[in-house]
Amino acid sequence: MIDFHCHLDLYPKPSAVVDDCKRRGLYMLSVTTTPTAWKGTSGLAGDAPRIRTALGLHPQLAHDRRGELALFDEILPQVRYVGEIGLDGAPEFRQHWHTQVAVFEHILAKCSEAGGRIMTVHSRRASKAVLDRVAASPGAGAFVLHWFSGSQRDLDRAVELGCWFSIGPGMLKGERGRALAARMPPERVLTESDGPFAQINGTAVLPWQVDLAVDGLSQLWSLPRERINEMLVSNLRHLLGDVDSP
Ligand code: MN
Repeated sequence: MIDFHCHLDLYPKPSAVVDDCKRRGLYMLSVTTTPTAWKGTSGLAGDAPRIRTALGLHPQLAHDRRGELALFDEILPQVRYVGEIGLDGAPEFRQHWHTQVAVFEHILAKCSEAGGRIMTVHSRRASKAVLDRVAASPGAGAFVLHWFSGSQRDLDRAVELGCWFSIGPGMLKGERGRALAARMPPERVLTESDGPFAQINGTAVLPWQVDLAVDGLSQLWSLPRERINEMLVSNLRHLLGDVDSP
């Protein structure tokens, strides 16, 4: 099982979640929303070799935490994964749009300078603007668009630009999300929980509930679950082989 976008530090009892993930052999990309959170969140993974921690600055916090970019730059040489980063075009964050763009562009420039990173990227109501930056940053590394919700046209452009996608149970609940997932190249798809933000029936999604996304993909692509699981692991290997960095 692979959860390529999880906010481990935001669960009420992260250590219990880590224990369960270890027992299940789950691969996790534990994302952070601020550079300050990176150290403590890396510590949560303890000795779990399959849990990796990404260095992030969430677009919804960009205006508040822009001052932490210096810390971001300082930590970047030590990490292979970056996220959660990106842009958010929803009305409540629109007023900080210019700051979001400045923060995102700074991060992409630093990732390029560093030789590329594997990035998990937020693009809610901002897919065109995110893809413009992807197109302008060929050296930044591998872009994994998390919970992509843009138009089918934007999706096609993302595929052309070489983007990857992480899909969770939340995305597969609605008809629109399912149509987008069906259009994605299966060899560039990973699963994610986006827990505890993402919820199922009012309860925070847990990392191993990526299983529900595996079920959804199995239906969409008319392939048995075992085959989907094999494909996801092989996809992860390809992604990790794609970018050389520490
Ligand atoms: Mn998230």
